[in-house]
Amino acid sequence: MTETAQPREGVEQLRARAEIDLAALRANVRTLRAQAPGSALMAVVKSDAYGHGMVPCARAALDAGAAWLGTATPDEAFALRAAGIEAPVMCWLWTPGGPWRQGIEAGLDMGVSALWALEEVVAAARAAGGRPARIQLKADTGLGRNGCTPADWPDLVRAALAAERDGLVRVTGLWSHFACADEPGHPSIAAQLTRFREMVTYAEDQGVRPEVRHIANSPATLTLPETHFDLVRTGISVYGVSPSAEIGSPADFGLRPVMSLIASLAQVKHVPAGHGVSYGHHYVTAGDTTLGLVPVGYADGIPRHASGTGPVLIGGKWRTAAGRVAMDQFVVDLGGDEPAAGAEAVLFGPGDRGEPTAEDWAQAAGTIAYEIVTRIGTRVPRVYVNTEQDG
Ligand SMILES: *Cc1c(COP(=O)(O)O)cnc(C)c1O
Repeated sequence: MTETAQPREGVEQLRARAEIDLAALRANVRTLRAQAPGSALMAVVKSDAYGHGMVPCARAALDAGAAWLGTATPDEAFALRAAGIEAPVMCWLWTPGGPWRQGIEAGLDMGVSALWALEEVVAAARAAGGRPARIQLKADTGLGRNGCTPADWPDLVRAALAAERDGLVRVTGLWSHFACADEPGHPSIAAQLTRFREMVTYAEDQGVRPEVRHIANSPATLTLPETHFDLVRTGISVYGVSPSAEIGSPADFGLRPVMSLIASLAQVKHVPAGHGVSYGHHYVTAGDTTLGLVPVGYADGIPRHASGTGPVLIGGKWRTAAGRVAMDQFVVDLGGDEPAAGAEAVLFGPGDRGEPTAEDWAQAAGTIAYEIVTRIGTRVPRVYVNTEQDG
């Protein structure tokens, strides 16, 4: 039978693990710095470092020369400070009533996109009565998401300068974000860049003296040197994932995927032809075959949209999720092969051992690789490898 477990030799074998290669992360940071040699680098570590684990990744990025860390929410930034990280940290996703005072006391750079936010940060600075709040004014140069419109920019700049004169804030940055940097040649790129220059020039003419001006995300950092300014804000590329297949593969940019998702086969069994597989019986075996049970599911972040399409490397061969991905598990048709229970099932990794990549899963699920890595759930332990800083 096929039900012999691999010898365990007293070592606990995990159901599944996300292996995080910190040497790859450090190398990616160095590669990105070389790509933008005249600019400082911010490693964006929001959303638990895109699912890779925030604090270990933040430390590795700093070791490799990142000067800044970036988060979306204030709580993410506070977690960096709580871990003892003293590097410049910027966070940009604020809502009314947010923890501005705590942000001031933690020495965060806080993104300000609207007058209401400026008013709240000024009130918090007054209450704190000590150091001025470090704020970075965000321009909406065309993304149509967060940021101050060109029409409202003069009022925001004027109010920020008044607060600076009162010693309550220091405007440390002027910044914006691209809509289509991952679509080479998209006309919005040049339009946003022109508007950014105009909005920066306006603010500086009024007397703003920013430490940093920045607009580049990963795709802009990789492909548009004219967007680098003083600082580049790289997220997905730090983790070795390409922002889009259209601009190239990770290897095209000298980047190496940091996360490998590896599960331990929970069962291998023979079934006859005509056997339905998983909920809804959307897969039915064509002949006598073997089925392998991969013990991760949508609760672990494996997209249910990859039912019938998600790839996994088992015993040197690509297999495909047979039928539906369930909450905790999915099944593959092993075509008669009989790997032992406990054999490795590699869902994705760098790809150089023949395994699928996060991009392959994105394609299988009709999404982007950002979503694949960020959604790997907390039930999957992160196992850090190559943690020691290299030369
Ligand atoms: C997430 C984010 C980034 C990083 O984008 P990547 O495409 O992952 O490099 C940069 N800036 C802002 C404002 C972001 O929200």
